[in-house]
Amino acid sequence: MISTGAALPAGADAVVRVEDTAAGERAVEIRVEVEPQSNLRRAGEDIAAGETVLRAGAQLGPAELGVIASVGRGEVVCSRRPRVSLLSTGDELQEPGEPLRPGAIRNSNAHSLAALVERSGAEVVAAEIVRDDREATVEALGRALAGDVIVVSGGVSVGEHDHIRPALAELGAEQVFWGVSLRPGKPTWFGIHARNLVFGLPGNPVSSMVTFVLFARPAIRAMLGAGDARRRTTAILDAEYPKRPGRAHLVRCRLELRDDGWHARPTKEQGSHVLTSMLGADALAIVPAARGDVGAGERVEIELLYA
Ligand code: AMP
Ligand code: MG
Repeated sequence: MISTGAALPAGADAVVRVEDTAAGERAVEIRVEVEPQSNLRRAGEDIAAGETVLRAGAQLGPAELGVIASVGRGEVVCSRRPRVSLLSTGDELQEPGEPLRPGAIRNSNAHSLAALVERSGAEVVAAEIVRDDREATVEALGRALAGDVIVVSGGVSVGEHDHIRPALAELGAEQVFWGVSLRPGKPTWFGIHARNLVFGLPGNPVSSMVTFVLFARPAIRAMLGAGDARRRTTAILDAEYPKRPGRAHLVRCRLELRDDGWHARPTKEQGSHVLTSMLGADALAIVPAARGDVGAGERVEIELLYA
């Protein structure tokens, strides 16, 4: 008698399940025909000698961790999670939990962006609010530049209170681009400081989330060595979407799997300040800049928000 998982005794070439036997006092009755090799698991059926089970860039999820343990590796070399500094700009901002001053608004970006950072595989190492003041902005950016990735929200437009770009220039950051043909997301700024990446995201709560997903997340995933930095596929748009040609639109959609594949339906009103349009959204439908109205039933490209 051997237990499940035990090594096969020398000379045996099959195992009979105990349910198929009857134990007597001096002998065991076998009640079934026994084929050679039955009820055996051969060494190498799961992984053959010399086989590569995981490659560099693999994300270590539940299955990967199990496979690493199954081949006996107590340690593996991983890329360090990128360190992200978050900076929320604006005199009007107040953290949740404090009584709201007249005219103030809640700093929601710091919280939605922190969660997006964590989900993208990076870690938030610093987060602060900076006033719309040139000197304070230079000082706060100076501290933030210690991270691998700096994510700033607000202060990148052309208003007189928008100090981010001049402050970054003063600190020696090099602008790669400013302004993208997207709605929401137009004033998005991206630059490099030493070896660090700086994302200047627009302050509107939806804009900061979608531009993080489209620009900062792929960069973080690439830093982690992931081969597939983007999370793109297509879906059938279930409602018509009115649009004038001009900028590409990012439409917050809920996804549903039907017999003919994935369907996307816009969540609700799509203003860049309507943060609740992100509630229940699974993906951004990307309607190209040159497109006019999109009819219900058309196939659109989507970027998955949280995959
Ligand atoms: P800005 O990009 O700084 O011009 O900001 C655009 C809009 O987004 C303004 O209405 C800001 O009050 C708002 N906003 C900026 N930062 C945040 C934030 N951290 N949380 C919520 N709303 C913000
Ligand atoms: Mg502002």
